[in-house]
Amino acid sequence: MTRDFFRTFAACAAVLAGPALAQQDFSKVEIQTEKLADGVYMMSGGGGGNLGVSAGEDGVLVIDDLFAPLTPKIQAAIAKVSAKPVRFVLNTHWHFDHTGGNENFGKAGAVIVAQENVRKRLSKDGFIAFLGMKTKAEPAVALPVVTFTRDLGLQLNGEEIRAFYAPRAHTDGDTVVQFVKSDVIHAGDTFFNKSYPFIDTSSGGSVAGVLAAANRILNIAGDKTKIIPGHGPLATKADLRAYRDMLATVSSRVTAQIKQGKKLEEVVASKPTAEYDEVWGKGFFPPEKFVAMLYDNLKK
Ligand SMILES: [Zn+2]
Repeated sequence: MTRDFFRTFAACAAVLAGPALAQQDFSKVEIQTEKLADGVYMMSGGGGGNLGVSAGEDGVLVIDDLFAPLTPKIQAAIAKVSAKPVRFVLNTHWHFDHTGGNENFGKAGAVIVAQENVRKRLSKDGFIAFLGMKTKAEPAVALPVVTFTRDLGLQLNGEEIRAFYAPRAHTDGDTVVQFVKSDVIHAGDTFFNKSYPFIDTSSGGSVAGVLAAANRILNIAGDKTKIIPGHGPLATKADLRAYRDMLATVSSRVTAQIKQGKKLEEVVASKPTAEYDEVWGKGFFPPEKFVAMLYDNLKK
């Protein structure tokens, strides 16, 4: 899946997201549904961001909505677990592989909810510098209607759903969502499981913010908590801890070499990720690209 995601990004580099994505063949994508607790599901497919779903008496809340062409498949997958309509879409951040279905769900009557910076970024043409990718401003119906600055609580389907802002993490608008009773957390793209992460500094992200988000989730998670990463398979607290440790170790190695005045080629040649490549280096970014991204982030 992360391979597909990488191909999508590669295909999109330096072109507009819309037309490039329209060329991707979504017809064979199947949405996978994994039950995590009563009425709480993880859904995934098409190489985009993992979905979190709360379904029950009060209706359906969806966290993130993949790409626009997949909306009918997502709706069909939801219909298998609930007869109720999608009342809320909560975006974990503004990236197109997490918000692509907003227009469709907005037109179908869902209320879109997100941190205020998500609305700001979706409202205008954007640029993801490290990927060389331009994005188009979204129409009004695709924009968040309910925005918040720091934290938000939703009382839905018999439980409290807490959304909290993770500042300057993967972007400047990341939200982590906790299903308190079900003991499930959706980490958005502050967490890539079993794949080197992308940190979008051109959208206000930072390595320090991603580490802070991971630490905050580790503080509230228990050993049995199910953690939905933005990308990759369902995770445990131990997986998140391994991710945090990997990112902290590699970034401190890169920072040390930047301080010694090393050039990017030299840092890459020193293989600062070596012992992690087997587990983390086969996904979204190959090791060299991940090191280049960190170098770019950390030298600022
Ligand atoms: Zn993202």
